[in-house]
Amino acid sequence: MNKSINNLLYKLNKFQWENYMEDKHHDLNLICNEIYDYLSHLGCSSDLSKSELRRLVEYEPSVSTLRNKIDDSYNNGFKDDIKEDVLSLMEVRNKVSKKLGFKDYIDLVMCCEDLDFEILKSLIDDYIEKNLNHAKELINKYDLTWGNWFLNLKNIGPIDLKDIDSLIDKFLEKFGFKEVLSKIKIAYDKDMGYSTKISPDDIMICARKPNSIFDLGTLFHELGHGILYYYASEEDDDSFFNITTSFDEFFAVLMENLALLTMFPRDVSEKMKDIVDLEYMRTAISASFEFDLWNFNEDPEKLYAEHYSKLGIKQDNLRPWYKDSFRSLDSMYIHNYTLGQITAEKIIYKNYNNDCLEFGSYLKNICR
Ligand SMILES: [Zn+2]
Repeated sequence: MNKSINNLLYKLNKFQWENYMEDKHHDLNLICNEIYDYLSHLGCSSDLSKSELRRLVEYEPSVSTLRNKIDDSYNNGFKDDIKEDVLSLMEVRNKVSKKLGFKDYIDLVMCCEDLDFEILKSLIDDYIEKNLNHAKELINKYDLTWGNWFLNLKNIGPIDLKDIDSLIDKFLEKFGFKEVLSKIKIAYDKDMGYSTKISPDDIMICARKPNSIFDLGTLFHELGHGILYYYASEEDDDSFFNITTSFDEFFAVLMENLALLTMFPRDVSEKMKDIVDLEYMRTAISASFEFDLWNFNEDPEKLYAEHYSKLGIKQDNLRPWYKDSFRSLDSMYIHNYTLGQITAEKIIYKNYNNDCLEFGSYLKNICR
């Protein structure tokens, strides 16, 4: 890949990070347009790599302008009503994908991720079927409703963690990943989980300062993204820019699972596992709503309530579907979390035999 496009992509990541973390107001549309200009002059779409094709949709001006507008609103705590914008974004992504010869946006995403939509749907459905009863037991155990879901999960087992740095050191050392610290910086001053790479030597992670077991899970998840970004760009930056979203989330979810398996006393690990099981059930239900939404958006509110009623809990304060997490930014993303959990469980079962260093070097290889 050409160095100038990598520089533009890094600049976009940097501006995005500064908007989120330093309350700056960079206009992302300008860089998005530059990226689009560059890509659209590369030749016909059949010459493009899968990640270039995906970018050709994401940075097409009608798509990126809307996405950046919604992203601004997301960053401001959704003060504006963004419902029409979220629906329009789905429409323009479809339109641009069709222009490139795909059936629709789902078809483009599946092609770029090397996934088959019917297989993905059945994996998510199977996950829900197999784990629903267990999730319902956990919902009772922690007395969850939609209104208190995150609050109650964040209150599970307050922890008294004095030294986060040495906990992270210990984890990285165990798996032979210590070198990643030469490029990773972690900021704890915002209430969000977010990771990005803003230059060849700067991988940025934001996570809440861990006050609860839930926060610990988020920290290791974000650290997982950082570890992947380090090993994916050891040789050159191109493989970092070619990471698919499903692999990116799989790797982060895998690190969350490895942390709970190897780092904590049993009572903490068990609670971490409960949270993992609840959260990936939530993202599974969310994904199956998302898939249906593409065929049926006359009454998304009703569809949303129907899907979420599977968990049999009080739908008090159910967030409007279009403000639920970052689905507003990409209505074909949330499945990556549950898919990541399904894959992580398989990989751990097949390849991990309590030898952390050996498993660590296996993981370094699959990042490259
Ligand atoms: Zn993630």
